Amino acid sequence: MAMIEPQEAWQRIEAQIAPLAPQERALPELLGCVLAQEIVAAENVPPFPAATVDGWAVIADDDNTPLRILTNPGTAGQVPAAQVVPGTTAPVMTGAPIPHGADAVVMVEESEVKENWMRFSRRIEPGAGVRRVGSDLAAGQAILPAGAVLGPAEIGLLATMGQTSATVHPRPRVAVFSTGDELVEPEKEPGPSQIRDSNRYALMAAIRQAGGEPVSFGIAPDDADGQRALILRALEAADVLVTSGGVSMGTRDLILPLLAELGTLHLARVRQKPGKPLTFATVAGKPCFGLPGNPVSSLVTFELYVRPALRCLAGHSLLWRPEVAARLLHPVQPDPLRIEFQRARVTQKDGTWWAQTTGAQASSRLLSMIGANALLRLPAGDPLPAGTIITAILVGQPEDH
Ligand code: AMP
Ligand code: MG
Repeated sequence: MAMIEPQEAWQRIEAQIAPLAPQERALPELLGCVLAQEIVAAENVPPFPAATVDGWAVIADDDNTPLRILTNPGTAGQVPAAQVVPGTTAPVMTGAPIPHGADAVVMVEESEVKENWMRFSRRIEPGAGVRRVGSDLAAGQAILPAGAVLGPAEIGLLATMGQTSATVHPRPRVAVFSTGDELVEPEKEPGPSQIRDSNRYALMAAIRQAGGEPVSFGIAPDDADGQRALILRALEAADVLVTSGGVSMGTRDLILPLLAELGTLHLARVRQKPGKPLTFATVAGKPCFGLPGNPVSSLVTFELYVRPALRCLAGHSLLWRPEVAARLLHPVQPDPLRIEFQRARVTQKDGTWWAQTTGAQASSRLLSMIGANALLRLPAGDPLPAGTIITAILVGQPEDH
């Protein structure tokens, strides 16, 4: 299969994915999910006229002074027993219903109390210190559209409405396994030709950060029958498969031929660095990403292709990270033939973004991603002098660093 440009690679991936079918999820599971229904306020909030301050319930137009204090203070959660009539007042606390007869609340701070009598200096308007019925939310009001991303405030609103669950696009379940005869679990002491599997843990963390649910399927040795069985087992349990390694040109690189055998291959080489061997297929209609084995290549291709795909499956309409135009703080040598995504740290100074790469950019050097908050998209070609304006994809918050 021919090598294609990154943009074409994404178009081929995008053509194969769509938001997962909506499902009901309980309140504690909703953070970050995308609503698949419109939410309409079923009730008024507040449902009763409530005090916004601690103080005294009065009749605004009552000119009597001082006012006689009725007993039975109204505290939040209590139905008020007092009936306020001209010449009287009743204590009321924030959030409590306004006692019958009263139409305003005088703040404690503005009152003077002597024995059974309350006096206040300022005139008061009807409605002062009172939250009207439905003033926060009116019954029938549309409050969240389908497509809204649920954060703390949205989840709070659902709870206020008595809605204990909502219909959302579920988080994609993403099966992950690493391939390679050389790999051992991180807790193991590697033998003379072995290394520890770092990709699976890095990718599971990246999946979680992207809003997916990772499911680990361990390490697969470079054996066709074993890997074939694992691909099928993983896809039974998940919406998406992500593997690392085994997509280069080596004799033990089996993922590419296996995906081609089991499903439909959509791309198998991308003109970019790192990440040239990126492979994408669908098996039984499910997206399968064969990421390269080098630790930086797997994370960079995850960022550029898997993350937006997972966001699409989760129902997000915003798939992409923000991009800024930044100036290089130092000369940079891009790849002569492939678009290069160099890891960098960008900072903003006097309205200008500046980019500094994170040192040696070898695709095995995970340290090149440490402290990076951006990927610089560098067009293939000649060296770029300091000051050149390039595109920086913000993969982290600038204030992170
Ligand atoms: P491959 O794509 O399988 O040829 O692997 C490319 C390079 O990445 C080799 O040096 C592998 O040893 C290394 N590698 C592959 N998988 C992993 C992994 N899960 N964790 C760390 N390094 C890996
Ligand atoms: Mg390998």
